[in-house]
Amino acid sequence: MITIKSEHEIQLMREAGQCLARVHAEVADAIRPGMTTFDVDHICEKTIRSLGCIPSFKGYEGFPAAACVSVNEEVVHGIPSKHKYLEEGDIVSVDTGVIWKGWQSDAARTHAVGKISQEAQDLIDRTRGSFFAGIKAATEGGHVNDIGRAVEDYILPFGYGIVEDLVGHGIGRELHEEPEVPNFTCRSRGIKLRKNMTIAVEPMINIGTWQVRVLDNGWTFVSADGSLSAHYENTILITEGEPEVLSLLPEEKKLYHVR
Ligand code: MG
Repeated sequence: MITIKSEHEIQLMREAGQCLARVHAEVADAIRPGMTTFDVDHICEKTIRSLGCIPSFKGYEGFPAAACVSVNEEVVHGIPSKHKYLEEGDIVSVDTGVIWKGWQSDAARTHAVGKISQEAQDLIDRTRGSFFAGIKAATEGGHVNDIGRAVEDYILPFGYGIVEDLVGHGIGRELHEEPEVPNFTCRSRGIKLRKNMTIAVEPMINIGTWQVRVLDNGWTFVSADGSLSAHYENTILITEGEPEVLSLLPEEKKLYHVR
């Protein structure tokens, strides 16, 4: 079911988004070589709880942690581990979510660990760029699959692979609601976007092939060719004009020129 949120519900989702943006800011400050992916998860959970929120990922379909922490060729759903160390030159994607007064927010960022290659930095920047390109199409009266077309138009000239096995989603009281929000062109334009819908847009981009496989742990997606992968996600609100990005801090919105 696709849900349209009331003004009051939107306000709570705004608050949830601001909490989540602060969690990601804490992580961004802390990331450095020598940390484990468990340490990254610990920062997420500690910050989420300190803000009075609940970590939505913990226990979701049995997921064991507050954050998915995915390194290098890991696309998404990396399971935090005390044995997995971040090394200089790695890239690490952190995907986490909060529940605030019953309302969800979901966002992901990919970070550099120490000094990284230009190739890796380009992937991070262009994956983020594809999110902002995609949400230009996320406006009332447009269609949900217009977003994926815009992501694809932005990404394909770089020769990267767009992951198709996982997609964005509606969000609200539930972490995953309808509709699905693909990051690629579909045959149909999908459902019409309406004011006060809230969705999570989350391009997952590989330097090499778009194809992925799942590790034996049953959770973690990796690029099929072992190439680097990046992920960028925010929860957004559909309006009559530009969407409002709920899970970015005011200074980040200014930096990226979004509402
Ligand atoms: Mg998501």
